[in-house]
Amino acid sequence: MPFGLTQLKPAITKLSLNKKQRLLEWLQAEIKAETQEQSPHKAKKEVEAVYQLEYVRCGKETCKCSSGRTEDMHGPYWYSYERNSKGKLVSRYIGKKLRIPQ
Ligand SMILES: [Zn+2]
Repeated sequence: MPFGLTQLKPAITKLSLNKKQRLLEWLQAEIKAETQEQSPHKAKKEVEAVYQLEYVRCGKETCKCSSGRTEDMHGPYWYSYERNSKGKLVSRYIGKKLRIPQ
């Protein structure tokens, strides 16, 4: 049997002021607990990073990597890609071995 707001409202109206205040406090605590339960998931999503191996060019024109061919390029090196608080994609060099930065 669902118990909706329509059934709750008349019951709440009949409560004394003291009980209404206690109900409100309890409700606020309930809401706070629920919102806090959800926020860690959100925070987790923001720091979620993508790790990938990439071949890179060092930028020197005299280096063989300037040919752009994978076999002439440096690496592969691990890079992490993650969004910062502003939603911008930030890449970070990790190295030849994958280490998950803390
Ligand atoms: Zn190079």
